[in-house]
Amino acid sequence: MPRVIVATGNRGKLAEIRSALDLSGWEFVTAPDLGSSTLDVEETGSTFEENARLKAQAYHETFGLPALADDSGLEVDALGGEPGVYSSRYAGLDATDADNNAKLLAALEGVPAGQRGARFRSVIVYIDADGAETVVDGACEGSIGVEAHGSGGFGYDPIFLPSQAPGRTMADLGMAEKNAISHRGAALRALRGVLGE
Ligand code: IMP
Repeated sequence: MPRVIVATGNRGKLAEIRSALDLSGWEFVTAPDLGSSTLDVEETGSTFEENARLKAQAYHETFGLPALADDSGLEVDALGGEPGVYSSRYAGLDATDADNNAKLLAALEGVPAGQRGARFRSVIVYIDADGAETVVDGACEGSIGVEAHGSGGFGYDPIFLPSQAPGRTMADLGMAEKNAISHRGAALRALRGVLGE
């Protein structure tokens, strides 16, 4: 059965990837599943695609398996597209999701509802057993709320209001609902086509 290594230590991402790619006959494993530590890949790229490629290549080379890496983040219009590729480190290298959300809410304090537009982006790089690369991507439009709400998902989900789920944050949605409208869900649907299902 095809076994793919998923280049992440982010449990939220992993759960969404496994849920969206529930392909019979495919197994999506992590480094810990194989008895190894999660690789510490330095994200030196300036785009989501470059960083996804760095992670996919590192896992492909280290484990000798087909590898899948998602690099993603939040672009806020009122902040000129920040935090973008720095989304996970917005409030510092060891920032928690709560730290990042608090910093973003503070940065947007006083910004009116009509100017709080934002989008999540995901770029996925998949490298197959022969080293051939596929790149897919997805985006999810929405806006930033004024306070955190909801307990699902991860990252900025509690403060992101997807345009397609009026009145709810991304963290108010179940995983299937999130995958149906999210940036990562869109990228993973594109990848499903490439994997042949
Ligand atoms: P990466 O692991 O370097 O790709 O960092 C992605 C970061 O972007 C995460 O740590 C979150 O802060 C943010 N992010 C990406 N996708 C999502 C999502 O689906 N929901 C909430 N935050 C996300």
